[in-house]
Amino acid sequence: MTMKNVIRVDDVVKTYPVAAGEFVAVDHVSLEIPEGDFVAIVGRSGSGKTTLLNMLAGIDRPTSGTIHAAGAELGSLSESGLAAWRGDNVGLVFQFFQLLPTLTVVENVLLAMDFVKKIPVSERNDRAHMLLDRVGIGAQADKLPSTLSGGQQQRAAIARALANDPPLILADEPTGNLDSQTADAVLSLFTELNNEGRTVVVVTHERDIQAITKTQITLQDGRIFASDAMTVVQP
Ligand code: ADP
Ligand code: MG
Repeated sequence: MTMKNVIRVDDVVKTYPVAAGEFVAVDHVSLEIPEGDFVAIVGRSGSGKTTLLNMLAGIDRPTSGTIHAAGAELGSLSESGLAAWRGDNVGLVFQFFQLLPTLTVVENVLLAMDFVKKIPVSERNDRAHMLLDRVGIGAQADKLPSTLSGGQQQRAAIARALANDPPLILADEPTGNLDSQTADAVLSLFTELNNEGRTVVVVTHERDIQAITKTQITLQDGRIFASDAMTVVQP
């Protein structure tokens, strides 16, 4: 039985127009991520990590090359097609949480369900509370995000990412704004999500995350500088 890839990136380039011409942020990157992997994308600031992750999420499009993710060739989808694909398949977590400040924590989770319409309406409220309990902030459900600690806000963002039960979790420096103890607790949530079968890709420049992931991909100047992906992908 061959392992199924949840992500395949073929010869992807991303350039940005700058005063001097074109800046190459991602430079001919190819990689495969099998279902169930737990991947850290590491590298210095400016190495192209966010640019690559945003393309995996269909937030940004490659200048050239193709990306297959969660059963779709992303380049073939329209903007609304990408939004629908993302809603069904991807849970996103950001460094600065990006919760809607005027909604309560539970409303933030419910909004993600309303937007995607995958979870039956009658189940949404119970599911939102179950997810908040699961990430350890059930008691904060009716509070506004600004009244929560950074770690609690990131837990809320993880609950929101899980709202529609996505097979793929993509996170961009999810612990970058947290103290180390809080960061460890958040990282163990990602480990749990991976243990239950979700594919998890975490962008980070932190060493501690590399200890718990299965695969590391190191970017340098937009290129894959090192990867142990091939060594861990065994039938
Ligand atoms: P990382 O997440 O590893 O810090 P990024 O993917 O954010 O790196 O950025 C990679 C490179 O691309 C950086 O040099 C950055 O300045 C440049 N870059 C990112 N976004 C843009 C943009 N919109 N326009 C021009 N350059 C950009
Ligand atoms: Mg970044």
